[in-house]
Amino acid sequence: MRATIIGAGVAGPVLGLFLRRLGVDVTIYEARTPERLALAGAFLAVAPNGMNVLEAAGVKARVMAAGDACHGFEFVNASGRTIARVDDRDDAQRYGSPLLVVRRTRLQRVLVDAALEAGVEVRHGAALVDVEPYDREVRATFESGEAVTSDFLVGCDGIRSQTRALVLPESPAPASLEQLDYGGFARLAEAPVEVGCNLMVFGRRAFFGAFRAADGELLWFHNGPKREDSLSERERLLEAHADDPPWINEVISRTPELLGPWPLHDIASIPRWSMGRIAVIGDAAHAVSPTSGQGASLAMEDAMMLARCLEATGDPERAFERLAQRRRARVEEVVRQSRRIGSTKVARTAFGAWLRDRMLPLVLPLGTAAQRRLYSYRVEVADPRAGG
Ligand SMILES: Cc1cc2nc3c(=O)[nH]c(=O)nc-3n(C[C@H](O)[C@H](O)[C@H](O)COP(=O)(O)OP(=O)(O)OC[C@H]3O[C@@H](n4cnc5c(N)ncnc54)[C@H](O)[C@@H]3O)c2cc1C
Repeated sequence: MRATIIGAGVAGPVLGLFLRRLGVDVTIYEARTPERLALAGAFLAVAPNGMNVLEAAGVKARVMAAGDACHGFEFVNASGRTIARVDDRDDAQRYGSPLLVVRRTRLQRVLVDAALEAGVEVRHGAALVDVEPYDREVRATFESGEAVTSDFLVGCDGIRSQTRALVLPESPAPASLEQLDYGGFARLAEAPVEVGCNLMVFGRRAFFGAFRAADGELLWFHNGPKREDSLSERERLLEAHADDPPWINEVISRTPELLGPWPLHDIASIPRWSMGRIAVIGDAAHAVSPTSGQGASLAMEDAMMLARCLEATGDPERAFERLAQRRRARVEEVVRQSRRIGSTKVARTAFGAWLRDRMLPLVLPLGTAAQRRLYSYRVEVADPRAGG
C-alpha cells in the first residue's frame, strides 16, 4: 500500500514510523521548508502516555535525549506563595515514562530524522491544495501543481487543516479561547525554579509557567487574555505581570527573543474523521488547548491507533472508521476538561483569586486522579478482528 501523509508536525512522522512497520510506502508532504520548521514554536510537554507511544515507535530514547524529564509541579499565587505541589518523581515507574519537556524544534527534528531512517520520504515546501477520491485511490494536489495518487491519505495538518476543510467541510471552525500564549528561553539563576520542576504562577492578570532544564536554561510561557492596546509585545507581557513576583519580569526582560503570540483555539468535536480513504488525525481532528499538556500526546496516540486498526483490518476505510470509534470519547473529554481548567487560570476578581488559592489544594487530588487516567492509557486493539 502507498500512503500520503499531510504534515510533518507531530502526528505525521509518528504515523509514518508505524506505517513503515506494516510495510506501507509512505510519503509525508510538509508545507514548510526545513528552515521555517526550525523556527517553529517554543517547547512542549510530552506526557507519559505520549512518551509510551514514542517507545512503541522506537524513538523514546532519542526524544528523551533531546529534552528534560519533569519531576513535579509547583503552583504559586500572585504573591509568590506556594499553594500546592504535585510530586511526579514516580511517573516513570508508575506509567512507564516520565513527562518530558522538549523544545518543539528538537522534537520535530528527532521525529522526522527517525521517519527518514525508517524509509519514509519527506517532501518539504509542499502545501496541499486539493484532495479527491480517484477510483480506489486518492489524488492529492500541491501548490506547485504536482499531483500524486496513493491508496489512502491522512491529514496530519494541524488545527487549520486543509484536508479537513476540503473533505469534511461540515466541521466547525476552531473556537477561539480569547487567550494569547507567548514563550521564550532565558537564563536567570536567581529565578526560584528548581531543575526539572514546572512552576506555575497564577498571576493577577495572566498565567506564567517556567521549567528549568538540566543546563540551567528556563523555558517559559505566558498565557493571558487577549487585549487591544498599542504596546509592544514585550511591554504587554511586562505590564501583564507587573503585580506578580518580580522575577517573572526579570525572566521576560532577559529573554533575547520573544516567541509568539499564539492565539489559542480548540476544536471540541467534528462529526466525522474520515471520508472514504481520506482521514484526519491529531489537531486536525480534535485540537486541545495547551492547558492540558496533551495535544501532542493525543496526536501520537491517534497515529499508533490508526496503524493498529489498519493492521487489524487491512483496509483503510474500515481502519479510519474504527479509529474514530476508539478515540473519540477520550480526545473529546480532554478538550472539554482543558477548556474548563483554562478558563480558571486567570481569576476575574480578588475574591476569585482568594477562593482559588484555598480551593486548589483541595481539588488537586481530583485533578491528579484525572491525570492518572490520561497517563495510564495504552493504545490497544483488544480483539483486532472484532467489531467495527
Ligand atoms: C502555544 C502552544 C503550546 C502548546 N503546548 C503543548 C504542550 O506542552 N504539550 C502538548 O502535548 N501539546 C501542546 N500544544 C499542542 C500541540 O502543539 C499540538 O496538539 C500538536 O502539535 C498537534 O500535532 P499535529 O501533528 O496534529 O499538528 P501540528 O504539530 O500542528 O503539525 C501540522 C503540520 O502540518 C503542516 N501543514 C499545515 N497545512 C499544510 C498543508 N496544506 N500542506 C502540507 N502541510 C501542512 C504544518 O506546517 C505543520 O508542520 C501546544 C499548542 C500551542 C499552540
